[in-house]
Amino acid sequence: MHVYNTLSAKKELFQPLHDSKIGMYVCGPTVYDFAHLGHGRSAVSFDVIRRYLIYNGYNVNFVSNYTDIDDKMINRAEIMKISVKDLADRVIPEYAKDYASLGIMVPDVLPKATHHVEQMIELIRKLEKKGATYVLDDGVYFDISKFPEYGKLSKQDLDALKSGARVKTKESKRQFQDFVLWKFSKPGEPEWASPWGSGRPGWHIECSAMSREYLGDSFDIHGGGADLMFPHHECEIAQSECALDKPFAKYWLHNGFIQINNEKMSKSLGNFFLLRDVFAKYPPQAVRYLFLQTHYRSPIEFTDEILAQSKNSLMRLHDFMNRMKNHEPEIANGKQQDFDDFIASTQKNFEDAMDDDFETPQALAALFDFVKEVNRRMDAKNLTRDSQELAMTFLMRIDSVLCVLVSTQSDEVDSETTMLMEEREKARKNKDWKKSDELRDELLKRGIQLEDTPQGTTWKKI
Ligand SMILES: [Zn+2]
Repeated sequence: MHVYNTLSAKKELFQPLHDSKIGMYVCGPTVYDFAHLGHGRSAVSFDVIRRYLIYNGYNVNFVSNYTDIDDKMINRAEIMKISVKDLADRVIPEYAKDYASLGIMVPDVLPKATHHVEQMIELIRKLEKKGATYVLDDGVYFDISKFPEYGKLSKQDLDALKSGARVKTKESKRQFQDFVLWKFSKPGEPEWASPWGSGRPGWHIECSAMSREYLGDSFDIHGGGADLMFPHHECEIAQSECALDKPFAKYWLHNGFIQINNEKMSKSLGNFFLLRDVFAKYPPQAVRYLFLQTHYRSPIEFTDEILAQSKNSLMRLHDFMNRMKNHEPEIANGKQQDFDDFIASTQKNFEDAMDDDFETPQALAALFDFVKEVNRRMDAKNLTRDSQELAMTFLMRIDSVLCVLVSTQSDEVDSETTMLMEEREKARKNKDWKKSDELRDELLKRGIQLEDTPQGTTWKKI
């Protein structure tokens, strides 16, 4: 398998640090507002990568954080006249819901920044001991001159950064690109005690501390949107490698932008779409399909027309799956060697595509070739029950990666979800409201929304 590593700016043979175990960290959202298309694209990109690693037998520990404290959180909470924690508590379940609709596997660990302040302080102390920090009136800063490799990820020349920024440099900052590790709090803001005074962590230190907590000082894959490469990821590298004297992440993967009418999606351009607004018009899985039709590093063009085409392609796949399920073979049972060979060659095409830096457009093309052939055989009544079963098993294996064949909104739920629903019903009967609420939230995370009515509880997939 080859992956494009932003750090080396080339495709590299993928070699994990520890045999079959993989540590993977993906920067999650700041939870001050609902998820938009950009969040969805990043989540789908790294979901498919994670799923393909699992497909290949790797044991993946997937960590993706929630940034639940920063200026945007504080400002929004103030406008809404609620606490920052209440804001996070409202928004996080909405992310979980939108991501579940997109068929995204729940991460193994979903750390919140506010639960890891201690670990962040510990990292800053390490940097302080190395003389890489200094204190100004508004916070503790990282001195990038203490990390000469600063700029290695985004390929920026430190000298150019320094001189180019001379004009803008705040008087007291040593270099323009020096960034805040710890921000002193203003009255009324959420704050934590620290050796430098009460305040809150800077954004970059959050990911360095949380990835270290769950994946160790060095780990395999760090992912995020291309917009995070600089300065966020550059700063993560500087802090972690300067504090710990070890290489941070081995492979850096970045997903591309979304363009709407040829312009980069942004709030200021007004072409900014929330996932929930798109889901009101199209099935969420069509959005997933649209993302997979483009390589994860390339920009995606997003228009109603392309989305409608994606929906049609998705429906074709679902119709095909229904046909397969209901198909009664009319010929004698038995092995069909040519069909076995066809499955093997399709599998090879699929894996070759995915092994080449996760080329999902080609993987989908392999899947469509397969669908066409199976349809042809069903039309010609030339598919035995054995072949049909083999095809189904093969399709389910491919779909464990792509997640487009089985509807994320079907009425089927897995046995674990059924068990949770039964447990919740029991808790309600026993008037154990706390447990009942916990189970309701757990089910919501799995994309199941419950509604309690006088007649009983109903549910729907969201
Ligand atoms: Zn991050």
